[in-house]
Amino acid sequence: MELCTTKAAIRASVQRWRASDSAPVVLVPTMGYLHAGHMTLVERARARAGAGGRVVASIFVNPTQFGPSEDLATYPRDPDRDTAMLREAGVDALFMPDASEVYAPGAQTIVEPTELSRILIGKLRPGHFRGVATVVTKLFNIIAPDAACFGEKDYQQLCVIRTMVRDLDMAVEVIGVPTVREADGLAMSSRNVRLSAEDRAAAPVLNAALGEAEALAADGVTATRLRAHVRARLEREPRADVQSVDIRDAETLAALSGPLERPAVLLLAVRFGAVLLIDNRVVTP
Ligand code: AMP
Repeated sequence: MELCTTKAAIRASVQRWRASDSAPVVLVPTMGYLHAGHMTLVERARARAGAGGRVVASIFVNPTQFGPSEDLATYPRDPDRDTAMLREAGVDALFMPDASEVYAPGAQTIVEPTELSRILIGKLRPGHFRGVATVVTKLFNIIAPDAACFGEKDYQQLCVIRTMVRDLDMAVEVIGVPTVREADGLAMSSRNVRLSAEDRAAAPVLNAALGEAEALAADGVTATRLRAHVRARLEREPRADVQSVDIRDAETLAALSGPLERPAVLLLAVRFGAVLLIDNRVVTP
């Protein structure tokens, strides 16, 4: 595995591959502290790239997607372990730059979805999706992959990226990958290690509430009732500080209230202590 810490180095690797054959290059962007969810994205990338193609992973804890009072400084990191895991998984190149390598001093240009970045998580974390869309655009420009894999766990992020690629005519295929969970149903996340033992024990309530919602949706309840049920279920857990429960059109994220007529997505954001956990489930009427 090639380890690249500069834009020039990863560009040179990709250009060398492109010059030798036309096999696909597939990107897996991450913020590191890798877990089985990330490694599923790597497997999906390998499947898309094919035996002769190349998989590039990136690890970059992007400062511009963290708000001033958020957990940038305490975000968990373990670059040596991550590097070993990616090498073991057969990744061809790892792009792991510093923030000073990624952002020019005095950088002025941003990419920001107008509506999508202001709703849901965008409301809880102003500026977050501007940071995400900008850094993903930069990664696409630096690496020029044919395809890139993103987790459905970050559902709104996946919508933001799909919309950005469509709106700005980016020649990258966006591949969504289903959420990987712990045995008790908690969605895997690098932030889970920061949960106290008590909060970790309580956190599977997100998946439990989503499971109940799935059954209710199949029984034909309205969006409003579904949302109320999930909120009440979460609020019965005293350690859960419920930030938002939303039900939206699964494709456009438009708000819903009446009977479900198309696939809808339930989106949860719940704080346990200082840790914000998110989860979601697509439900079909
Ligand atoms: P992160 O390092 O948290 O920025 O995540 C990097 C990529 O991995 C994103 O596309 C996430 O949506 C995806 N991801 C994170 N957790 C999971 C999970 N439990 N299952 C599947 N994909 C995940």
